[in-house]
Amino acid sequence: MLKYYNYDVVFQEVPDEVSLAINITNCPNHCPDCHSKHLWENIGEELTEDELNRLVDIYRGDITCVLIMGGDASKNEVETLAHYIKHNLNLKVAWYSGRYDNPQNIGDFDYLKFGPYLSDKGGLKNPDTNQKFYKVFNGKLVDQTYRFQKH
Ligand code: SF4
Repeated sequence: MLKYYNYDVVFQEVPDEVSLAINITNCPNHCPDCHSKHLWENIGEELTEDELNRLVDIYRGDITCVLIMGGDASKNEVETLAHYIKHNLNLKVAWYSGRYDNPQNIGDFDYLKFGPYLSDKGGLKNPDTNQKFYKVFNGKLVDQTYRFQKH
C-alpha cells in the first residue's frame, strides 16, 4: 500500500503545469545524498483512491497535474494510481522515480522523471545531472531535461 508523508502545490517540478505533488514514503533507493531521508520510513497516510480524491478536491480548479513523488517500492501501485488519475480525475499525471525503469504503460503518464539523486551530478538544473525528465508524447518519451537548465 502506498503511503504519503505530505503534499504541496508546486510550479517548477513539471514545466507548464500546476501540480499537486504528493511525497510517497518507504523509498527503497537510499540515495547516499538524499535530502529527504524521512521518506525512507514506511510512514504516513495510505494513499487510497478516496484519499486522492479528497486531496484533489481541495485544489480542484487550481491544479492541472498530480505529481507522484517516489513510490519505487510499489511500482505497480503507482501505475494503478496513475491510471486512475488519468481516466477518472481528468488531470495530467507525472511521476518522479529514483530509478531508470519505465512503467508498463507509459500512456497512463504525461511526464516521467528518472534517476537517483547524486550530489556530484546534481538535480535537473545541473547540466551534468544523471537525472532525466521526459514528456510522454504519442506513447514515446521525449527528453525535456533541458527545460530545467539555463542556456
Ligand atoms: S529517490 Fe529521492 S527520496 Fe528516495 S533516497 Fe533517492 S533522493 Fe531520497
